[in-house]
Amino acid sequence: MIRNLSIKKKIVIWFTITFLLNLSVMMGLTFVIGQSVFDTDIKTQLRVQVDANAEEIEFLNSSELEEEYEKGDQFLEYNKGYLEIDDDFCDYINGIYTCLVDSDNNLLYGEAPVRLTADQLFTHTVVEPLTYQGEKYYIYERQLHGHNLEGLWLRGVASLSEGTYLLQTIAHWVLLLVPVMAALSVLGAYIITRRSFAPAEKIIEAADSISSGNDLSRRIELPKGRNEFHTMADSYNRMFDRLDAAFQREKQFTSDVSHELRTPVSVILTQSEFSLEMAESEEDYREALEVIQQQGLKMKDLISQLLFFSRLEQGREPLQIAACNLSSLVSSICDEQEALYTAAHPLYVSPADSSLDRESIKAPRLLLLRQIPDDVIAPVDSRLFGRAVTNLLSNAYKYSEGKNGYITVSLLQLEDPSRIQLHISDQGIGIPKEHLEKIFDRFYQVDPSRTASQAGSDSGPAEAGAGLGLSMVREIVHLHNGSISVESRPGEGTTFTVTVPAAL
Ligand code: ADP
Repeated sequence: MIRNLSIKKKIVIWFTITFLLNLSVMMGLTFVIGQSVFDTDIKTQLRVQVDANAEEIEFLNSSELEEEYEKGDQFLEYNKGYLEIDDDFCDYINGIYTCLVDSDNNLLYGEAPVRLTADQLFTHTVVEPLTYQGEKYYIYERQLHGHNLEGLWLRGVASLSEGTYLLQTIAHWVLLLVPVMAALSVLGAYIITRRSFAPAEKIIEAADSISSGNDLSRRIELPKGRNEFHTMADSYNRMFDRLDAAFQREKQFTSDVSHELRTPVSVILTQSEFSLEMAESEEDYREALEVIQQQGLKMKDLISQLLFFSRLEQGREPLQIAACNLSSLVSSICDEQEALYTAAHPLYVSPADSSLDRESIKAPRLLLLRQIPDDVIAPVDSRLFGRAVTNLLSNAYKYSEGKNGYITVSLLQLEDPSRIQLHISDQGIGIPKEHLEKIFDRFYQVDPSRTASQAGSDSGPAEAGAGLGLSMVREIVHLHNGSISVESRPGEGTTFTVTVPAAL
């Protein structure tokens, strides 16, 4: 039951209970202590007052009366003389009465709120409690000593009800004020918690509307301020940013995949329709089948790349990291790519001159320069890393196509921190600055036409591109805790730099 209460209510209830408990305990203690202090105090006062008053009474005979007469003093005829009661004698002060009685309990002077019975007379030589007509008193009696004073008693009576009047008044006010104060502070607690928790309600409301409305672009907006809820809202908003971006990427990805697959499928369909309806000779059929085959290969390539990506993402392509001789790996990839290029671009030899000297080369040519020291070892998954290097090198060839120039592959071992760097530079068409950041995104192509033209017609090292190569390279490099960067100048060339740690 309590568990299901809102935090706001829990805080207010807890606050109220502890507040009232605190107050009652404090009040209780104050009263108990106050009462005991008052008790001790009144007893002391009673004794002190009666003792002090005893000093103010003197017996005078008639001859002494004239000498001792002082204005303000009281004179009572007593035992053939006079009792002089000094004006300092206090018959009532601070709830304490003092009276003078003779041994027959006749009141000679002063006031007494209690009348004692014969058996109670002069038995209170220490301060004692007494209940008289339902009221509580302390009583203290003391016999006077001195010339002609024997047989006289001073009786002090302190009224407890009069003495505790102040305490009672305080209690009365406290009882009146406590509920008011409690109500005020509970109200305050309620307002503060309500205000403090208002952002939580906003967060819930925004999160609900985001999840129910599928509007991932909505964000939680809180009124100005800076508390835990703002920090929470910020992290929620950051999470929504990431979700939104992932969702957008997913949407973009699906649309890109469909788009990439639509072109080869339409080409295949057009070619099939054409050959079914129009083809007359075996040559027509062959041509159509070749086009269909090319498109089929392009689709196969795209699908295998996509599969590779999804395996990487789902962790189904586990890394098999082992110490790998990068020098040999990179060299063999260079050999492969160079061979593919040469096969696609045979040297043109003049019929008049069959020797292969430089003068006889007519077509633009790309030369591969290698700066690869021996035995550079690094912990990599050779299959994946090789795939990344192949991609970069084949791009270098692809985007230098039709130009004369060099492609340089250099492998460097760097210290502090110990790492390996691979540079692949070309003197090809380059990449405009504004595209540099995006070329690593999936399906991003600077200008699809410049690859598309090659994709269909090339039988060279360059594969039909769909803009997936570099994003795959980056993914692989990141899996190796490495980084990749690019520098490029349109028309001058491009350099990709891959850096991986030299040790795990
Ligand atoms: P693609 O399949 O189009 O080659 P990539 O992901 O490999 O896809 O490359 C993305 C884009 O980056 C390419 O469309 C191309 O325009 C550009 N690019 C990549 N490598 C180079 C390079 N060496 N020189 C010039 N442009 C390049």
